[in-house]
Amino acid sequence: MPELHSIVCMKITPKPEEIRVDPQTMLLDRETARSEINPPDMNALEMALVLKDQHGGRVSVLSMGPPFFEPYLRVGLAMGADWVYLLSDRKFAGADTLATTYTLVQGIKQIGEFDLIFCGEESSDGATGQVPPGLAEWLDIGQLTLINLLEISDRQQFARGRREVKGGYEILEVPLPAVVSVKTASNEPRFMDYDRKPWAFSGDNITVWTSADLDLDPQLIGLPGSPTIVTGLADAPIRGRRRRFVTGRPDEIAQKLADLIGEAL
Ligand SMILES: Cc1cc2nc3c(=O)[nH]c(=O)nc-3n(C[C@H](O)[C@H](O)[C@H](O)COP(=O)(O)OP(=O)(O)OC[C@H]3O[C@@H](n4cnc5c(N)ncnc54)[C@H](O)[C@@H]3O)c2cc1C
Repeated sequence: MPELHSIVCMKITPKPEEIRVDPQTMLLDRETARSEINPPDMNALEMALVLKDQHGGRVSVLSMGPPFFEPYLRVGLAMGADWVYLLSDRKFAGADTLATTYTLVQGIKQIGEFDLIFCGEESSDGATGQVPPGLAEWLDIGQLTLINLLEISDRQQFARGRREVKGGYEILEVPLPAVVSVKTASNEPRFMDYDRKPWAFSGDNITVWTSADLDLDPQLIGLPGSPTIVTGLADAPIRGRRRRFVTGRPDEIAQKLADLIGEAL
C-alpha cells in the first residue's frame, strides 16, 4: 500500500485584535499586527498528524504568502510535519479566493501525489471559507467540510468524517484523494516536540517556490486573477454595556423593567 500523504494548507494571519486594513488599498496592513498560525489550521495539522500516527506516511505543509511566514510554518515541522512548501512571490499578492486556490493547486500539482488536503474551516482575516471548496473544484475531487473527526479506511480508499449539525451529527464519506476542512477547536493541537525543534527551526526543510517555479497562467494569479475586490470597509459601532439601577417596591420594579424592555424592543 502506498504511504499516506497529507498536505495541510496553513495561512499565517494577523492576530484578530490587531488587524488594521489600509484604507487606501483595502488590503490588510500586515506590518502593524503580530501574526499567528490561523487557529483552525492548527486543528487541521493535528488531524493530519493523528492520521500519520495511526497509518504512517508523511505530512506536508503548504502556504502562500510572504517570506516572513517561514518561522511560523516551522512550528508545523516541530509538531510533526515532514516538509514545508511556501509559495512566495509579489505577483501572488492581492489574490482573492479564486486566485489563491488556483495558485495553491498549482503548488499541490508540483508537490505530486497526495491522499488528503487539509484546510482550516476559515481564516481569521478574510474569513470566506471558500478556499477548501475552491481547491476541491480546481482539483476535481471530493470534499468533506467543517469536519471535527476523521478516519480513513484500512485500505486507504475513502475518508469518513463527522460534522456537527443542530441536534446531532452527520457522518460523511468521500473517496480519496479528497479535501477536508476542519472545524475550529475540534481537537487539541499537540505541543512542539522538543527533539524535533533543532531540525525544524534550522534544517533544510522548506521549499520556496516563486511564480517562475510553477506552471502558472499569469492572468490567473494575484490581482489580475482576482475578480473579487474588497471595495469598502466600515467600522461596526461597538455598543458598550449600560447599567441602570431600578429601585422601588417589587411591583414598581417589575413595571419599570417591563417599560425598559418595551423601549428597547
Ligand atoms: C476583509 C477582507 C475581506 C475579504 N473578502 C473576500 C471576498 O469576499 N472574496 C474573496 O474572494 N476574497 C476576499 N478576501 C481575500 C481573501 O482573504 C484572500 O483571497 C485569501 O487569500 C483567501 O481567502 P480567506 O482568507 O477568506 O480563506 P478561507 O477560505 O477563509 O480559508 C480557509 C482555509 O484555507 C486555507 N488557506 C487560505 N488561504 C491560504 C493561504 N494563503 N495559504 C495556505 N492556505 C490557505 C487555510 O487552511 C484556511 O484555514 C478578503 C480579504 C479581506 C482582508
